[in-house]
Amino acid sequence: MSDATRFRTTTRHMLKQSKEYASQTLMGGLSGFESPIGLDRRDRIDALKTGDIGFVHSWDINTSVDGPGTRMTVFMSGCPLRCQYCQNPDTWKMRDGKPVTLEAMIKKVDRYKDLFKATGGGITFSGGESMMQPAFVSRVFRAAKEMGVHTCLDTSGFLNKNYTDEMLEDIDLCLLDVKSGDEETYHKVTGGLLQPTIDFGQRLSKAGKKIWVRFVLVPGLTDSEENVDNVAKICASFDGAVEHIDVLGFHQLGRPKWHELRIPYPLEDAKGPSAKLRQRVIEQFQSYGFTVY
Ligand code: SF4
Repeated sequence: MSDATRFRTTTRHMLKQSKEYASQTLMGGLSGFESPIGLDRRDRIDALKTGDIGFVHSWDINTSVDGPGTRMTVFMSGCPLRCQYCQNPDTWKMRDGKPVTLEAMIKKVDRYKDLFKATGGGITFSGGESMMQPAFVSRVFRAAKEMGVHTCLDTSGFLNKNYTDEMLEDIDLCLLDVKSGDEETYHKVTGGLLQPTIDFGQRLSKAGKKIWVRFVLVPGLTDSEENVDNVAKICASFDGAVEHIDVLGFHQLGRPKWHELRIPYPLEDAKGPSAKLRQRVIEQFQSYGFTVY
């Protein structure tokens, strides 16, 4: 299996702690960003609203993981969902992130813009939940588009209402997690509502944006034929915007983080999908006409 194929079959959520990911990552953490000084709590809240600062968990430069080409992926802090299979519970609280100024982030994009253009890459905002800080993300995207840099938003879509139509204009590609296909299962998996994801996907489609859907396959949780069919129907409602679907097999690489944070881990004994199950799900999506990895 080529590297490109291998990485298409997984995701940052599923892969971030693996050796393969590390070997694709040129740098990361929070190096290169100075925190703004002299801001009290009130100032920070105001700056967050305007997008003058964003709270960032970490960033890295990677290839073939979070969109096409070589990309700078910025993991924003804060997430309103609580997915049972989350690999990064350390990103859940915004206050655990580091404040980074808009200016510093734009400077970083500018520094790598030639690399992005040479490889067909760009900037990806991920998380946590990238749409929790819409002003910051959209202002960086606007600056990136002015530099001719490709932009990608990795999101669950749960905060659909946070993102205005004007903000949508500067997204080239969305990596959209469709975590399950009906409200009941979605709530069980994430603690949240499914409808905002559907609404966001349909808005992206109407705006002419491309979508790569991600579906995490967990035996006994998301793998029923009915659930997969419902996810496929949701993707079909995005009306041609879906370029492909990634079926991501659950794994246990995130378990140590749940233990470190002393959060009860609901999938303690869960196993990844068998090759047979994975193939069944891939074929189900293919039967709706989708390209599946
Ligand atoms: S959307 Fe789910 S998997 Fe992603 S960071 Fe939030 S809780 Fe974790």
